[in-house]
Parts: sequence; C-alpha cells; structure tokens
Amino acid sequence: MKQFIKKIIISLVPIRLIFDKFNPIFLYHSLGSNSNFSDNIDHVNIKTLENQLRIIQKYCKFVTIDEYIDTKNKKGLACITIDDGYKNVLEESLEVFEKLEIPITIFINSSTFQGRIFWRDKVRYLIKNKLVNEFIKDSQLFNNDHTEKFYWISKDPRFNSKKVEKELDKFFLKKDLLVNSSHNFCFDDAKYLISHPLVSYGNHSSNHYVMSSLSKDEQFADILECKNFLKRFDINKSNIFCIPFGGKDSFNEDTTSILKELGYKGTLLSENKLNKIINTYQIDRFMPKKFNIVETIKTLYLKQFI
Ligand SMILES: [Zn+2]
Repeated sequence: MKQFIKKIIISLVPIRLIFDKFNPIFLYHSLGSNSNFSDNIDHVNIKTLENQLRIIQKYCKFVTIDEYIDTKNKKGLACITIDDGYKNVLEESLEVFEKLEIPITIFINSSTFQGRIFWRDKVRYLIKNKLVNEFIKDSQLFNNDHTEKFYWISKDPRFNSKKVEKELDKFFLKKDLLVNSSHNFCFDDAKYLISHPLVSYGNHSSNHYVMSSLSKDEQFADILECKNFLKRFDINKSNIFCIPFGGKDSFNEDTTSILKELGYKGTLLSENKLNKIINTYQIDRFMPKKFNIVETIKTLYLKQFI
C-alpha cells in the first residue's frame, strides 16, 4: 500500500518543480556497452546513459562542475562527474557526450597510473577466498569481532586505510598470493589524459583511502600526490576535490582545511542525493543507475523533501 501511494505521489510531482529547488549532479563510474560490466553495481550502459542525458537536457543546462561552483544563480544547471577513471568512459562513452555537447569531469586516482592494485580489491580477495579469519589472526588492527562484516569494517574510519593496506600486503606476501585489480579497468597510462574541450580531470586522491582514517599529514600527502600528478599534463583541470567513498564520515575537518589550503573551491560527496540550490563547499551527487531518470530524480526528491 505504502509503495502504491509513493508511486502515485511520484507520478504527480512535476519534474520542473524539483529543478527549481535542486540541481542534479550526476555521479557515474563505469560507462560502456560491454556486458561483462553488468555485474558491477556502478556500471551504466551507453544506451541508458544517452537516454538519461537527452531527458535532462530538456530541463537543464549541463555545465562543468567548476562552472557550476562559480555560477551564482544555479537554477536549471546540471553537471556530469565521473569517478575513478574507467577506461571505457573515454573509449566508449565520450562519443555520446560529444554528440550531445555535454562537458564531463573525470576524477582520477593517480596510483592507478603506477599500476598499483586497488586496496579494496585486496579486501574483496580475502572475503571471496575465505581468508578473513586467517588474516585477522595475524592482524594488529583487527580482532575476531570484525570478521563478519569485514568488508565494511575495513573501510571504517577507525582503521587507518594505509595501515590496513600494509597488513594486507604483508599477508599476501607471506601467502605468496597475487591479487588481480579491478583498477586494471581504470586509467593506467598517460594516453588517457586527453586535451579535449569537453573533458576535464580532477583529484580523487592518489590511493582512494578513507581520508578520515588517516592522520592530517597522510591525508595531505595523498591529496597532494594526485594534484602534482595532474599538474604535469596539458589538460583541463578541475579545482574541485572528490572525496573517496564520498560519505559524510569519509572525511573530516583536517581534509577540508587541507583542501582549502591547496586552493580547492569545493568537495564532492557521493551520498545519492540531489544538490540543493545553495552555495556550499560540499556538493551532493546522485547515482543514476536506472533507465528511468525522471523516476530516479522524483524518488530522491521525495526522500529528501518530504
Ligand atoms: Zn571513487
């Protein structure tokens, strides 16, 4: 019954009314037509992407996230942000953005360019291969209480991501195991940093650690490493920082103070929300995974507004 009422309300809310109060700041990850990616929860198919963009273009003007921050009157604006730098974004989806003349900003982790294995893949490997108990036995950071929800515990801000990764590396070295990285699907070569009028690149930190789990110095080093890496290339650069994991607990006051010190104009969150039309340092984004973008936006609006 509740679901039925919700459906009726959703059908009655005019989408234009939503865009009077909120800006849709899109957060995509992998974008392509390869069906192997359909298992990846963050993947969006090219056809879905084009449909979503064409619909939103009827109501909103797409600008870069930097233009958005700089614009005082934000009504009717929308932005595309793409996290983690999946190769398929440039190889498969760029033509869609070109066709529709929509600017995109890709937030990269510079460590993927050095071929480093993504630390979350090391955690996933432990879980998949039922090695969590054995790992915890050796661990100085975790105990038996952490076994069950290890995937989430391992990215809890209480545990320093850098130390977690060090322990994982020690364990894998001892066991002589080789982990494959999902980051192999992400930019690993400078050829992915293209000079293109519609494409800009931004800082998503070097290693995608949980910022709030790190000391201020460690945060500074991880943010600066990616900033300096991007500096070396003749490409459009964003002055916005994208928080790894993007939750309110994924960063802290130290992060904000570092970002302001380094000259960043804003930060991007990933809490699956529409962004209120106000000028703030933190910008909310949503993940448009479903084909029906209007329904997605209306559902988010109901959740946030009612
Ligand atoms: Zn990310």
